[in-house]
Amino acid sequence: MRCPSCGSLDTQVKDSRPTEDSAAIRRRRLCLACNFRFTTFERVQLRELTVIKRNGRRVPFDRDKLARSIEIALRGGTKVRIKAGFTHEFEAKR
Ligand SMILES: [Zn+2]
Repeated sequence: MRCPSCGSLDTQVKDSRPTEDSAAIRRRRLCLACNFRFTTFERVQLRELTVIKRNGRRVPFDRDKLARSIEIALRGGTKVRIKAGFTHEFEAKR
C-alpha cells in the first residue's frame, strides 16, 4: 500500500482488527520511509454496482458518496444522525 504522505511503497501493517460490526477489517499502517501512520479498510465486494444517473450516464457505485449525499440531504433542522453501518445495511438489503 502506497504511503499517502510521501508515496513510498515501503509500508507496514502494525495492527489488523475487524470493525465493530465485523463488516470490514481495519488496518493501522506505518510508512517506513517517513513514519506517517494511516488506516485502511478492507471490505467484501460482491459485485460491481453501477449507478445510472438521471442524465443516463453510468458511474460506479460509491458508498462514501452515497453516505455524504444522505448526510447533506438530512441537514437543515432534522436531528437524524447516520451511523457508520448505515450504508453497509443499505447495500446488504438490496
Ligand atoms: Zn511515507
